Amino acid sequence: MQVYISVDMEGVAGVVHVDQTRRTGHDYAQARKWMTAEANAAIAGAFDAGATAVLVNDSHGDMRNLLLDELDVRAEVISGSLKPQAMVQGISPEFGVALFVGYHAGARSRAGILDHTYYGAVVARCRVGGRDFSETALNAAVCGMLGIPVGLVTGDSTTCAQARELLGDVETVEVKDAITRYAARHLAPAKARERIREAATRAVRRARQGDFKPFLPQAPLELEVEFANSACADAAELVPGSRRQDGVTLGYTAPDAGLLLRVFRAWILLASTTLT
Ligand SMILES: [Zn+2]
Repeated sequence: MQVYISVDMEGVAGVVHVDQTRRTGHDYAQARKWMTAEANAAIAGAFDAGATAVLVNDSHGDMRNLLLDELDVRAEVISGSLKPQAMVQGISPEFGVALFVGYHAGARSRAGILDHTYYGAVVARCRVGGRDFSETALNAAVCGMLGIPVGLVTGDSTTCAQARELLGDVETVEVKDAITRYAARHLAPAKARERIREAATRAVRRARQGDFKPFLPQAPLELEVEFANSACADAAELVPGSRRQDGVTLGYTAPDAGLLLRVFRAWILLASTTLT
């Protein structure tokens, strides 16, 4: 079975602040080492369970965070941006399961470390079918459309709770217990990696047994995004098919999750041009 791994940074053990997650931050160098090590733990766990190949997608910020010289040589990696499928670039029907590592809670969460949905500066809230949709939900829906289930989500306690509520009985690893948006009680990073490796092994084994179902929200998908301000919505509204619902909210009816993600990202790119 081929295994796909999407790796973000906010949900990595030890990370609580943007000073760690931004390239210009003082503690970024340390955080990207932790991120790479958690990716390696998931890769090792997948191979422990008999994975035939592993593809890792760097899914944070400019998507050039993973330290490639330190990456497990058995895996291949996608880095850089712009990528049409963003955090799930390269997902295709040849994969048997997707693992989400270092993920974070969706915008508007309570006690979610660095919670946001794709781009916090412009997206205040993202809903699909009236339900809050986090990055876990959006990315799982794109995987689901291709028939691929998510088998593992790692991150803080809030992220893991949201993942279980959305996806049911998937493997989760709570590497930290979020106290507020910027504070958490962590496992030691080495302990977090042990748990991620074990959980990735369980996830791949369970996927082989058909234990997980692809996440397939009912189509058509009604996307609704509340932007940070009306200028963001003014710019995003240029995407054909967008419906202005109020000063800061746009709606869009998408036939599937792939098109939904493209529209969402086009909105974000346009909206971000208004930031001063
Ligand atoms: Zn991120």
